[in-house]
Order: sequence, then structure tokens, then C-alpha cells
Amino acid sequence: MSCKGVNCKSLLNELCDFLDGGLDAATIEEIKVHLDRCQDCRVLVDTTRKTIEIFCKAEPVALPQEVRNRLHQALEQRLREPGS
Ligand SMILES: [Zn+2]
Repeated sequence: MSCKGVNCKSLLNELCDFLDGGLDAATIEEIKVHLDRCQDCRVLVDTTRKTIEIFCKAEPVALPQEVRNRLHQALEQRLREPGS
């Protein structure tokens, strides 16, 4: 981090942690101040955030084996039950 606060380059470096919520409050504040002044970074943060949201939703969730077994059993039971 530069001691002159956040610039465009350091913001890029911190972007992942910023969106992840993994930064300390002081750094988040510095980034917010920079975003107020810098439209380029505002657009960048916005785009990146949306990309991450889409990526997270599209990522397949791995179910634990136990959950999968129970789900399978429940489905089989449902299929055997007549007319429910
Ligand atoms: Zn900037």
C-alpha cells in the first residue's frame, strides 16, 4: 500500500479483498474515498462485483455424500409411494 492513500493501481491490488470483505475498516474507507473521486474505478468495482456474483451463482455446489444419499433415498421413497 502506498502511504499516499489509495490510487488506481493499489485499488486494483486490493479489489478482491475489498469485494470479499477481507479488508480492515481503514483501508475500506480509503478505497471508498478513492471511488468517490474516480469514476474509472467505480465502474471497475461495479463490473467486477457483478462478475463475481454471476460466477458464484453459476458455480456448481458440491453436496456432501451424506446429503446426497439422503436426497437419493427420499427421491426413491417418493417414487415408490403410489399417488402421493
Ligand atoms: Zn481510480
